[in-house]
Amino acid sequence: MAAASLDPITAPPTAQFGVGCAPGTSSTARGAVDPELASGRGDEAAAPLADRLARAITLAGPISLAQFMAAANQQYYATRDPLGSGGDFTTAPEISQMFGELIGLWGADLWDRAGRPHAAWVELGPGRGTLSTDALRAAGKAGFAPPVHLVETSPVLRAAQAERLPHATWHDAIDTLPTDRPLIVIANEFFDALPIRQLVKGAGGWFERLVACQDTLFLPIAGKQVPDGVIPEALRDAAAGSVIETSPASVAILRSLAQRIVAQGGALLVVDYGYDGPAVGDTLQAVRGHAYANPYEAPGEQDLTAHVDFGTLAAAAIVEGAQVAGPIGQGAFLGALGIAARAAALAKAAPDRAEGITADHQRLTQAMGTLFQVLAVSSPDWPLPAGFA
Ligand code: SAH
Repeated sequence: MAAASLDPITAPPTAQFGVGCAPGTSSTARGAVDPELASGRGDEAAAPLADRLARAITLAGPISLAQFMAAANQQYYATRDPLGSGGDFTTAPEISQMFGELIGLWGADLWDRAGRPHAAWVELGPGRGTLSTDALRAAGKAGFAPPVHLVETSPVLRAAQAERLPHATWHDAIDTLPTDRPLIVIANEFFDALPIRQLVKGAGGWFERLVACQDTLFLPIAGKQVPDGVIPEALRDAAAGSVIETSPASVAILRSLAQRIVAQGGALLVVDYGYDGPAVGDTLQAVRGHAYANPYEAPGEQDLTAHVDFGTLAAAAIVEGAQVAGPIGQGAFLGALGIAARAAALAKAAPDRAEGITADHQRLTQAMGTLFQVLAVSSPDWPLPAGFA
């Protein structure tokens, strides 16, 4: 705690912040501190994450928000399937098969116009594997049946994916994806789960947001001042209390995939909630049981996300020599791919489900229509992807 002082701008009243950071007080600790753990001889990995983070902060000082978010989400996804009505949130492929099918046809169309090369299908953070299952069924009918590569760190979700996509190859990270063929890569609600940094405007400049632990609470505090040079020029004079977010992990993945696509051919489709940044705004949020929660509470027990800065991702892809389409709203994208015709065909085939199909169509294109954005990054040697006209 010595490394940074509490910042009156960024530190909210402690009463708003609920759950314990002192070892043994977390919601998952359930009772007294294990004496083995308290003496430092316990199995650290088995201790609740809140306790491990509290211990690390007590010993070595506040950690960056990116470290807090990375640790929280790693634990969160490793220990559960969070999707669906019984979980914490629902995603587009879990709402309707139309979403994955249209993305499969999008990939098949691009592959066809690129001359039908031996390409691989890749999904980043595939959740239950629903999107790729729907996509590959539709793509197969169009003659496109590529090998499937899934980038997934969670053992629980890998098991769910294996039930639907038994012939897939799994990867911990993008580095091990095939290097000898074009890649058609899909990332739906993947980038929002990657860690962000926050820079907060305070007296005389911008400060890195850190996560401290005081009494029994995790809370955001201001750390070291960062040079003004790292703040985009247009945002430098923002009002006190303004927050700028960056996601070095997202940019690194985007750049590396863009390099691969330029060298190997193919395309990347990113679908997520986001904005055309860089811009000012604190978008860190926690979701638990389909409701918003305090992001500094119960690390590892709730989903932490931030809105995706599509402007910065697109700029990173362009620097690597890739061509970029979008970002455009998910509603416009799915509309251009023919979701209305697909919804009509499904409703005709199952008239008893027509009302539900119409509701799903509206949810995907209206409720999620502009909040969710779609960006395509593709090889300059490939045709432009469909859906962005
Ligand atoms: N795309 C799915 C699931 C979204 S939830 C859908 O739309 O339904 C986020 C997914 O990303 C989960 O599968 C989660 O385990 C995975 N994930 C989160 N962080 C990751 C990381 N750093 N590396 C690989 N996968 C990650």
